[in-house]
Amino acid sequence: MSDQPYEPLRPKKGPLGELFAPVAGFGVTFSSMFKPTVTEQYPRKKTPPQTRYHGRHQLNRYADGLEKCIGCELCAWACPADAIYVEGADNADAVDGAPEAHMSPGERYGRVYQINYLRCIFCGLCIEACPTRALTMGPDYELAGPTREGLIYEKQDLLAPLAEGMLAAPHPMAEGTTDTEYYRGEVTAPTAEQVDWVREHRPDDPTLDAASAVVAGDAPPPVPDTHHLRPDQDRAEATRAAATQSSLDRRPVQTEEARP
Ligand code: SF4
Ligand code: SF4
Repeated sequence: MSDQPYEPLRPKKGPLGELFAPVAGFGVTFSSMFKPTVTEQYPRKKTPPQTRYHGRHQLNRYADGLEKCIGCELCAWACPADAIYVEGADNADAVDGAPEAHMSPGERYGRVYQINYLRCIFCGLCIEACPTRALTMGPDYELAGPTREGLIYEKQDLLAPLAEGMLAAPHPMAEGTTDTEYYRGEVTAPTAEQVDWVREHRPDDPTLDAASAVVAGDAPPPVPDTHHLRPDQDRAEATRAAATQSSLDRRPVQTEEARP
């Protein structure tokens, strides 16, 4: 033990500081009293969170519509909460009798992809582990629901929507490319061969017209979807509606005898 008297590191207050010290804690209160009151109109009006907010996950696509996920399961292994379940499969088996068709560039794709939002702690380790930037996290924060099953998001819930001009998978990779060109961002639109392949195998595909326009130069190349808050009439709305209905169903039913 040292015999030196204790010297606090914080500089000593002056006489004015000493005078106001007992009420210094009210400084924040007083300054807040003169600020305008802001009432968020949630859920009628959704407020976008800060730019780097990490909310619901999204499985992204390349500009020609192929999925970025290659089913490698690295995200599932990185997850400390064991919230992700992935089953990969060979692209060659994606379409019976058409080994040239791909769901994603390369050999494998994510056939099954689930995130259990009852377990997820939104740490972001999964998106750091993803080698293709297939998995990212966006601003969507409406992740509550009345059932456990509803909070296990399947691949179709997580997959980014097809942007205008993209060609729905499965279809062949852009001719003359490997997965490396995809990773480097050198595939920027569907090609004529891809459009022809889809026209031959799925003539009713709704994405054909827009993709054909891109190939013909009549429309700009597709811009892969960035994260967004989901529109009102979607899963979040359905979840709220289900929750409301469920609480209505749980109300005690009054019998004739119980009524006054
Ligand atoms: S954010 Fe964290 S807890 Fe959630 S799925 Fe990713 S790794 Fe798992
Ligand atoms: S999201 Fe990324 S890390 Fe997870 S399986 Fe797909 S490619 Fe692999």
